[in-house]
Amino acid sequence: MGKGCRCIATAKKMLKVIGEHFPGNEQGYDGFMKDTREKMQALMPLLQTRHNKWTDYVSKRALKALPKLSLGKSVYDVLSDYFTDERLKIAFTFQAKYLGMSPWECPGAFSILSYMEHEWGVFHPIGGVNQLSKAMAKVTEEHGGKIHLRQGVKRIRVEGKTITGLELETGEHVHADEYIINADFAEAMTNLVDDGVLRSHSKKKLEKKKFSCSTFMIYVGIDKLYDMPHHTILFAEDYQKNVNEMTRDLVLSEEPSIYIHNASVTDPTLAPPGHSAVYILAPVPNNYSEIDWEEKQETFKTLIYEELEKKTGFKDIRKHIVEEKVLTPKQWENDHSVYKGATFSLGHQLSQMMYFRPHNRFQELEHCWLVGGGTHPGSGLPTILESARITTGWIREKEEQTT
Ligand SMILES: Cc1cc2nc3c(=O)[nH]c(=O)nc-3n(C[C@H](O)[C@H](O)[C@H](O)COP(=O)(O)OP(=O)(O)OC[C@H]3O[C@@H](n4cnc5c(N)ncnc54)[C@H](O)[C@@H]3O)c2cc1C
Repeated sequence: MGKGCRCIATAKKMLKVIGEHFPGNEQGYDGFMKDTREKMQALMPLLQTRHNKWTDYVSKRALKALPKLSLGKSVYDVLSDYFTDERLKIAFTFQAKYLGMSPWECPGAFSILSYMEHEWGVFHPIGGVNQLSKAMAKVTEEHGGKIHLRQGVKRIRVEGKTITGLELETGEHVHADEYIINADFAEAMTNLVDDGVLRSHSKKKLEKKKFSCSTFMIYVGIDKLYDMPHHTILFAEDYQKNVNEMTRDLVLSEEPSIYIHNASVTDPTLAPPGHSAVYILAPVPNNYSEIDWEEKQETFKTLIYEELEKKTGFKDIRKHIVEEKVLTPKQWENDHSVYKGATFSLGHQLSQMMYFRPHNRFQELEHCWLVGGGTHPGSGLPTILESARITTGWIREKEEQTT
């Protein structure tokens, strides 16, 4: 967008950056942080509570939050109340992409995403995000739990509306008191449950729902460490056009926006000495598009490298590649079981949130519980952990009631 700007999660430093690059917008930043702090406080109880009844909408906590939800406004509208400079608005609204949505469509309540980054900062677990799963696995085992890896579920067996067991890819059958599904919701309901079992989440109905965009990924191991920040975002010159192409028109942009993750600058454990691990992400349409990825993969990859080498400090990156792995939306779907390659799950339109998102206690099957991006409160690590908290709390409550 013609001008680079460093975003910093310290109010004083961020104000200095805004003063230098976007004079006149400093007050807007203060106002945004103050108002969104209040919005966050009002929203937290909604994000941390189950939503399985219509009456939740007239509960005290919902009514209290209502005036803060920016109803009828998009994230872009909300930020336009604070900033006059278009580039600054984009810098505080691109976070809608964490939900795979356009800032011009994403509900205004989600202005909390950029607020969170500026209030608390952005974190990286040393060793990578996989360390979180490993830590959780350790706690599970310490409490006597057993984890069975590489034993995918092939089919969920249902009698009437009750889950009676799981059929694994190994051919084994497994039975339990309660079943918690963490697989991508739409993919699981489409491929693991027999046709005719589900009504409101049948294949046909799921196909009509709105889903997030997808991502084109390039993971590279390189023989040097670039002196570049941990996070770099390269916005397309016409960002709105690029966003519309990936979320509405479902075509590949000639000028994509690109995120570059240079985590080795923070975390030396990710690559051997003198090397680094970089990933490059371009948001692209999900598989509702008719893009032939086998045909487009190489040209799109080249375009991304060219943009990177031309517009960022990752000069000559192609000359330094030791390892490379590419993931297209087709591979997200076929190799990683992500419905339509929509990496951020069901869309986060208000029509698919809270009561209207599949419930943590899945409403169509007995003994079936959901966690992850496809249930309440939605996609993203902090949110999916909240979903797990809601679901486990609810299962405990059910157990206490039946014993
Ligand atoms: C490129 C990218 C970058 C991201 N970066 C961030 C970030 O920086 N911060 C953030 O907060 N969020 C980020 N996200 C979003 C975040 O990763 C997701 O919201 C989160 O992983 C969703 O969690 P989940 O449990 O719903 O699904 P997943 O993490 O996809 O887990 C589902 C699991 O189920 C398994 N599974 C599927 N089918 C079966 C089956 N039949 N049998 C057995 N197992 C099965 C899958 O193998 C997978 O391990 C990012 C997403 C992407 C795609």
